[in-house]
Amino acid sequence: MKIAVLRERFEGESRVAATPETIAKYIALGAEVAVEKGAGEASRLSDDDFQKAGATIGATAAATLKGADIVLCVRRPAADELGGVNKGALLVGALDPYGNEKDVAALAKAGVAAMSMEFMPRITRAQVMDILSSQANLAGYQAVIEASKVFDRAMPMMMTAAGTVRPAKAFVMGAGVAGLQAIATAKRLGAVVSATDVRAAAGEQVESLGAKFIMTEALKDASGTGGYARELTKDEQAAQAELVAGHISKQDIVVTTALIPGRPAPKLVTKAMVESMAPGSVIVDLAAERGGNVELTQPGKVITHNDVTIIGYTNLAGHIPTTASQLYARNLLAFITTLIDAKEKKLAVNWDDELVKATVLTRDGAVVHSAFAAPKTDTAGDTEAKPAPAKKPAAKKPATRKPAASKSTASKSAAPKADPGQAGETKPAPRKSTARKPATKAAAAEAGPQADAPATAPAAKAAAAEKPAARKPAAKKPAARKPAANKPAAPEGGDK
Ligand code: NAD
Repeated sequence: MKIAVLRERFEGESRVAATPETIAKYIALGAEVAVEKGAGEASRLSDDDFQKAGATIGATAAATLKGADIVLCVRRPAADELGGVNKGALLVGALDPYGNEKDVAALAKAGVAAMSMEFMPRITRAQVMDILSSQANLAGYQAVIEASKVFDRAMPMMMTAAGTVRPAKAFVMGAGVAGLQAIATAKRLGAVVSATDVRAAAGEQVESLGAKFIMTEALKDASGTGGYARELTKDEQAAQAELVAGHISKQDIVVTTALIPGRPAPKLVTKAMVESMAPGSVIVDLAAERGGNVELTQPGKVITHNDVTIIGYTNLAGHIPTTASQLYARNLLAFITTLIDAKEKKLAVNWDDELVKATVLTRDGAVVHSAFAAPKTDTAGDTEAKPAPAKKPAAKKPATRKPAASKSTASKSAAPKADPGQAGETKPAPRKSTARKPATKAAAAEAGPQADAPATAPAAKAAAAEKPAARKPAAKKPAARKPAANKPAAPEGGDK
C-alpha cells in the first residue's frame, strides 16, 4: 500500500498534505510513503525531514505517484497529473468541486476515487478530520495578526510615564469558528472587542470570550439548519445594517467572517460604512473568497479606501503554512486511518461509511456524489430525484494565477495589491449543510473546533486572558496616528 504526497502546484499554495509526524503514522499503519521533492519546503519541512520519518523522496511527480494507492494533496491536481497511480487509487484533499465540475469529471475518467475533505460531515466522530474548522480557526487568528501589521497604533491600553494610550477597538462580524478565534486573538492583543452574529446562540459564546455581543432587537435569531445561519429577510438585513452603521464608525479594526452555506457571502459593510471609519482603520474580510462581506473587498488583494485598509486575502491559513500544514495533515491522517486495515496493512474502504459517502466524488470511472452526478434515467425516461447542488457563490475569484503586485499610493482609493500568497486562489466549495453539533461555548475557538468537549465559559475567559501572542516586529510603527496625508501606502500583499 503506497501513499504519495504531491508538491502543490497551485500558485501561492504553501501548505503540504503530510508532515513527518503523519508520515511516521502512515508507515506504522503498514504504508510506504513517497513524498515529491520539495513538497514541504514552503512549510519549512525539508526532504531530509520526510526521509528521517521513513518516506522516500520522488524526484518528480511521476516517480512519486507510480503505483500509489492513495494520493494526498491540499489543492485538487489536474487529472492528467495523476498518471501512474494504481487503478481506483484514492485522491484525498480539499478538492473544491463546486464550479469545477469538468475537472471532477476528468478525475472520474482517470479512474481515481476522489474524496473531497470539505464535505466531511460535522459530526463528533469526524471533528478531528474537519479541515474547514482547522483552517478557519487559523484564519481567524491570522486575520487579527494581519490587521495588527497594518494598524498604525498599539492594540492594548498602555499606561506609561508619558501618558495613557487607549486600547484599539475591534469588531468581529460572524462568530463561527474563524470569528471566535479572531475575538480570542484580538482580546489577547489587548483590544476592546465586540462581535455580532445572526445566531442567538453565538451571543453566549462571544461573551464567554470576554467580548461584547451586539445584536439588534429586530433580529431575534437567524439560525438555520446544522448550526449554520440562514439568509436574512430584507427587513432583518435593514435592521442589521442600521445596527452595524451605528457601531462600525467607532471601530479601529473590523474582521468579517459571515457566511451562509451555499450562498454568496452576505454584504454587511457598505462603502458608506467604510467611509464612516477613522483614517488608519483596518478591515480584514475573511469572506473574501466567497465574494466578501465588505462592498469594497477585492478578493486576494489589499486596498485602501479613504485611508481605511481593506484586506481581502483568500487563504489566510496559508499565511501560516507550518501550522496550517500540521493541522491539515492531521485531519487527513485521521480520515485515512479509517480507510486502512492496519492488521492486513492494506486499503479497506467501507464505501457505506457515512464519512466516505459524504466525501467521495468519483468512483469506478463515474462522478458519484449526489451534488454532481448526472441524474440517472430509468426506462420510462423519468429522472431520479437528487438533492439540488448547493448554489455556487456568484462572486468567484478571478482565475488569474499571476499576482498583480503593485505598490499603492496614498491616494484616496489606492490601487489594489495582489496577495502572492493568494493569487489564483479558487473559492472554496460552499459548505454542505450537514447535521452537526453547534459548539456550545466560545472556548471552541481556543481549544480548536476539533475539540470534542466544549469548554466552559470560565475556561474560555481564562484562555482569552492568556498572555499576548507574539507581536509583529516592534518599532514598525509609531503609536500615534499619522496625519492622513502622510499615511504610508497599504502594505505589500503577500507579506508573510
Ligand atoms: P460559517 O463559516 O458558515 O459562518 C460564519 C459565521 O457567520 C456563523 O457564525 C454565522 O452564523 C455568521 N453569519 C452568517 N450570516 C451573518 C450575518 N448576516 N451577520 C453576522 N453573522 C452572520 O460558520 P462556522 O464557522 O462553520 O460555524 C457555524 C457553527 O457551527 C458555529 O456554532 C460553530 O461552533 C459550529 N461548528 C460545529 C462543528 C462541529 O460540531 N463539528 C464544527 C465547526 C463549527
